[in-house]
Amino acid sequence: MKVNIVGAGQSGLQLGLGLLKHGYDVTLYSDRTPNQIHDGSVMSTQCMFDNALQTERDLGLNLWDENCPKIDGIMLRIAGPNGEPALNWGACLDKPAQSVDQRLKIPEWMNLFTSLGGELVIKSVGVADLETMTGDLTIVASGKGEIGQLFTRDASRSPYQSPQRILALACLKGVSVTEPFSAVAFNIIPGEGECFFMSGLTTSGPCHFMIMEGIPGGKLDCWGDVTTPEQHLARTMQLLETFLPWEAERCKNAELADQNAVLRGKFAPTVKFPVATLPSGKPVLGMADVVVLNDPITGQGSNNAAKCAAIYLDRIIERGDRSFDAAWMQETFDQYWDYAQWVTGWTNAMLQPPPAHVQVILGAAASVPEVAHRFVNGFNDPRTFFPWLADPAEADKMLSSYQV
Ligand SMILES: Cc1cc2nc3c(=O)[nH]c(=O)nc-3n(C[C@H](O)[C@H](O)[C@H](O)COP(=O)(O)OP(=O)(O)OC[C@H]3O[C@@H](n4cnc5c(N)ncnc54)[C@H](O)[C@@H]3O)c2cc1C
Repeated sequence: MKVNIVGAGQSGLQLGLGLLKHGYDVTLYSDRTPNQIHDGSVMSTQCMFDNALQTERDLGLNLWDENCPKIDGIMLRIAGPNGEPALNWGACLDKPAQSVDQRLKIPEWMNLFTSLGGELVIKSVGVADLETMTGDLTIVASGKGEIGQLFTRDASRSPYQSPQRILALACLKGVSVTEPFSAVAFNIIPGEGECFFMSGLTTSGPCHFMIMEGIPGGKLDCWGDVTTPEQHLARTMQLLETFLPWEAERCKNAELADQNAVLRGKFAPTVKFPVATLPSGKPVLGMADVVVLNDPITGQGSNNAAKCAAIYLDRIIERGDRSFDAAWMQETFDQYWDYAQWVTGWTNAMLQPPPAHVQVILGAAASVPEVAHRFVNGFNDPRTFFPWLADPAEADKMLSSYQV
């Protein structure tokens, strides 16, 4: 069986490597060489939690466990009016999370892919190329790449028409680690947006990734005049000093990890129909960000991509010698959506001001460690946020189970 995969990112590579290990003939198309990715711009904060990391471990792809600093928990701070957090709590994850710069991970996985006998074609694939690909199955895993426009937006699953946050990402050296444990520091600036930090591993060693998520038109939507990496760092520091002085303090010795360590952008969260039909009638299947693109506010995209790759791998193997028709493609995506719908629902909700029952939960977490622990570990499996995060009566029930 021969499988073509367009896009060598978290999902495409993980699936391609998994298929190779099961004896499939795999061709992977990438619009950039491993060196171009390694030397290019930072792409993500890519914090991955244990369930997603397990899908990599299952395939022997966990190549950075020794070197990548562990993330042991999550701390939440809501900025108050006088330079102090109005709310401040944290809890440990049951198992650590990890953030390996995709500029490090993806080139290494690409090299592994070719060393295991996969065919890597460096080419920016267009629709005409999809038509001429021979093989039994073609999957489009091109992330936010233009070719994803082949897939049609599913309005019933996409509540937003426009970007909900203006994103500004930096990879930094010299940031001190949170105390008393290494955590994703999740800061909310009411009415303006969010900012989170986490330790990780970049091409030159340990680092911190940080991202500003600004509500469009607000005070964190202030990147239009920034053109150089130095200006990006200066603007970041200015925002930290204004809104999050405790983070400015941790960053007082911060410097950019390299000259490509910044990224700015925006996109509308979008869910798409998973099967596209080429002019010839040939169906192709979309995966991960191509079909379920969430805002990074909850740090779930790479986690979703890894879990999507694991589900698609199992489905392809189960299918044996039978053909991969459009109905099989739809069922394959439906299985992924059984999981991803909860991530999308949670992430889209986080883009709105928290309703009263969520404010009560966040407040309770400051004094009830079990509530904090439950909330924090939801990042590993967002299905566990439901039904209580979406339903005030269920939230009451959840809280009263801890005598709140
Ligand atoms: C600022 C930011 C912060 C984030 N932080 C987190 C986080 O903390 N945790 C988390 O889990 N997720 C995070 N994410 C999301 C995560 O990075 C993505 O969801 C994940 O990388 C998606 O994987 P993918 O395989 O779908 O696509 P990608 O990883 O984007 O890979 C797609 C690949 O396809 C290539 N490509 C595109 N078009 C073509 C073409 N026509 N031909 C050939 N190749 C093509 C691209 O160059 C790319 O290499 C963040 C994203 C952003 C933007």
